[in-house]
Amino acid sequence: MPSVKAFRAAFLDFTDDPFFTDESQSVRYFADGLLVVEDGKVKELGSWKAVRSKHPNVPITDYTGLLITSGFIDTHIHFPQTEMIAAYGKQLLEWLNKFTFPTERKFQDKEYAKKVASVFLQELLRNGTTTALVFAAVFPESVEAFFEEADRLNLCMIAGKVMMDRNAPDFLTDTAKSSYHDSKQLIEKWHHKNRLRYAVTPRFAPTSTDEQLQLAGKLLSEYPSVYLHTHLSEDADEIAWVKELFPQADGYLDVYDRAQLVTNRSIFAHGIHLTETEFQRLSEAEAAIAFCPTSNLF
Ligand SMILES: [Zn+2]
Repeated sequence: MPSVKAFRAAFLDFTDDPFFTDESQSVRYFADGLLVVEDGKVKELGSWKAVRSKHPNVPITDYTGLLITSGFIDTHIHFPQTEMIAAYGKQLLEWLNKFTFPTERKFQDKEYAKKVASVFLQELLRNGTTTALVFAAVFPESVEAFFEEADRLNLCMIAGKVMMDRNAPDFLTDTAKSSYHDSKQLIEKWHHKNRLRYAVTPRFAPTSTDEQLQLAGKLLSEYPSVYLHTHLSEDADEIAWVKELFPQADGYLDVYDRAQLVTNRSIFAHGIHLTETEFQRLSEAEAAIAFCPTSNLF
C-alpha cells in the first residue's frame, strides 16, 4: 500500500518562468488549497474544494493560515565557504587571498569536505532551500564528497570542480589539462546520477588561462546538458584586472564568449557592472545572472 498524506494550507508555486511568461500564467496561488503526497512525491495540488472530493478518505494535516511554497533554489553558493560566512573583506581580491583561499585548501581532505557538505546541506534545508548551484573547491575530492552527501539525501543539486590554473596559491591550482580531465571524469560519474547535475566551473576569468577557458568550452560542447557556472563583473578592480589579462577581448563577458561559454545553460554570478552590450549579449544567448544581494550589499 502506498503511503498517502494530505496538507491543507495556502499554496504558492511557479508553473513557468515569470521573466518570459505573464505573471497570471506563471504563478499559481491557492488561498485554501490541498496538497496530496504519495510516497513522498506530489500527487495532486489544487483548491481544497476540487481536490478534497477526489480524495475523501486521505488523512489531512491542517496548516490553515500558513503558506506552503515549493523549495527555494539558490543560484550561486560556495560550499567550502560555509565556515567563513560573513568574514569581512573590503574588496573581492583582498577577501579571496585573506580568507577564501586558505579555507579552500582544507577541502583536499575528502573526510573534512564531507563533514562540511553535511552541515552545508542541513543549513540549506533548514532555510527551505532544496536545490542549489554550488561551487566546490579545486580538488575533485571536494566534489565527490559533496555529491555523495547530496545523493544520500536524494537532493537535486548542481555542482562542479573549480577550474583555476593561475593567479592563486600553488596549493590551489590545477592545470588546463588536469582540470579538463578531472571535470570530465566527474561529469561521467555524477551528471544525471539520480537527481544530481554537473556544472563546468571556472572560478572566474582572472584565475584561468585562455587555454583552460577554451577547454571548459570544449566540455560544454561534449556534454550539452551540463551547466556553466562562474563569476562576472563583481567589482571594479576585478574588471580592470581582466582587461589587463585579456587585452584582446572586448570586455569581461567577451572573455567567456570567445571560449564558447555564453550559452542558455550558463549562470554568471553577480554581474554588478555590466555594459549595455553585455546585457544585450546575455539576453540574446539566454544566459542568466545570479545576483547575490547579501554578498553585494554587505
Ligand atoms: Zn561566488
